[in-house]
Amino acid sequence: MRFKWPKILQGVHPRQNKNTVNSAISRLRGFDSVSIPLDMQIGPGCESLVKKGDPVEIGQKIGEPLGDWSVPVHASISGTVKSVKREILSDGTHVEYVNIESDGKETVSAEVSPPEVHDRAGFVAAVRASGLVGLGGAAFPTHIKMQPPPGKTLDTLIINAAECEPYITSDHRICLEYPEQIIKGIMLTCHYLDIPTAVIALEDNKRDLVSVLQAEIDKVKGAPDYPAQGISLRVLPTQYPTGAEKVLIRLVNDRIVPEGGLPADVGVLVQNVGTIRYIAEYFETGMPLVTKIVTIDGSAVSSPANLEVPIGAAIVEVVEKSGGCKIEAAKVIMGGPMMGVAIDDLSRPILKHNNAILMLDEKDAALPKEIACIQCGRCTRACPMLLMPTTLDMAARIQDCEKLNRYHVMNCIECGCCTYVCPSKRYLLQNIRIGKTIVRQTGKS
Ligand code: SF4
Ligand code: SF4
Repeated sequence: MRFKWPKILQGVHPRQNKNTVNSAISRLRGFDSVSIPLDMQIGPGCESLVKKGDPVEIGQKIGEPLGDWSVPVHASISGTVKSVKREILSDGTHVEYVNIESDGKETVSAEVSPPEVHDRAGFVAAVRASGLVGLGGAAFPTHIKMQPPPGKTLDTLIINAAECEPYITSDHRICLEYPEQIIKGIMLTCHYLDIPTAVIALEDNKRDLVSVLQAEIDKVKGAPDYPAQGISLRVLPTQYPTGAEKVLIRLVNDRIVPEGGLPADVGVLVQNVGTIRYIAEYFETGMPLVTKIVTIDGSAVSSPANLEVPIGAAIVEVVEKSGGCKIEAAKVIMGGPMMGVAIDDLSRPILKHNNAILMLDEKDAALPKEIACIQCGRCTRACPMLLMPTTLDMAARIQDCEKLNRYHVMNCIECGCCTYVCPSKRYLLQNIRIGKTIVRQTGKS
C-alpha cells in the first residue's frame, strides 16, 4: 500500500514576537566600510576581480563566479579596496573577503543598467548576473532553481510569503510596501519560464496582506504577460514551519519532493517573496543585489526595526545605527530563533540571505541542560518530515552512518521542532546536524 502523507502539518506554535510588523523599512546609509565575502551561497563562491588600492563603485562586479552554480558579487558602497584576504564566515568556514573603505560619495557604477532580455535563456542569465540567491535564508542560487532537470517542466510558481519564524517581519513589510514589484516579479518569471500558474502562500496571521496583494493582482489581470492560469493567494494556518520549502509544496500542491530532490522534480518553483520582488527591481533599475532587508529585534535591542542595509556592513554598526542595545546581548543570532545561527563576533557582515539579527538577553539566551529521554514521542509527533528524531539523535551520537541513512537523516529540514517540544531538552537538532555532516563526509546519502 502506498504511504499517504498527512495533509495536516505537524509542526509547532512558538510565540510569534512579531514586534516589528508595523515598522516600515528604512534604509541605513553612511557606513564607513564594508567587508563583503566572496562566498555567500550554496555552491562554489567567487574569485576576486579587485585588489588592494582599487577604486570601486556601487554595483561594480568584484567577484567572478567560480562555477556554474556561483553568482557574481558586487560592491555595495563606493570607495577604495583596503584588502582582499581570507577570513572566517559566520558558519565557521574560511572565505575570501573584499574590504572596502567608503569615500562617502555613494557613486553608482556605469556597469549598472537594466538587462535586455528576449528569451528564457537570457532571463536566467540576467537573474544570475544580478548576483541573486534565495533571500529567504537558504542562499540557493536562483538561476539553478529556474532550470528544471531534463524531462521535467515547471507548472507552478509558489511565492513563499509564509515567514513562519518568530520575530522576523521583513517579508511582511516587503509585501505591504512593494506589492506592485512582487506581482511584476511573478509576471516576469512566469512569462520567461513559461509557468502557467502562480500561488502566493501566506499564513493567516498576515490577513492584512490579502487585500493589498489581491488589489495588485486585479490590476494586471488580462495583461499580455498574465500567467495563463492566473495568480492566486493561498492563506495557510499559522504554524511553524509552514514556510519550509518542502512543507509548503505539500500544503499548497499536495506534492512530495523526493529525498535528495528539488522542487523542480515535482514541477514547482518556490521563490521567497523578497527574491521575486528583487527580480522586478533588477529589471527596472539594473542594480545588482547590493542591499538586504533585515529585521533587527530581540530582548536586548533598544529599537526593533526593519532596515535595508548594504551587504557586507558589520552587524555591530547596523545595530548601533538602528538605536543600539539597552543591555548587553548574551546571544546574537543571524536569522530566526528556530533556524538561525548563533554568532560569536559582532563584526561579522550582513550576508545576501540574512533576514534577521536577533540580540537576546541572558534569560532568552539560556541553553537548558539536557536530561535523559523519557520516550514521550513528542519529537516524532512534531516532525513535519515524519522522521524519528530520537533515533537519528542516537545514531548521530554513535556515528552510525548506516542507521542515519536508513532513517533518512538527509530528509531533515533542520526546522528545530523536535528540540522545541522536547520536555527533556535533548539536543536533537544539534546532533542531527552532525549526523547529516557525517553522511555527507562519507558520501553515502
Ligand atoms: S528531525 Fe529535522 S525535520 Fe524533523 S523536527 Fe527535527 S529538525 Fe525538524
Ligand atoms: S521529545 Fe524528548 S523526551 Fe520525548 S521522545 Fe523525543 S527526545 Fe525523548
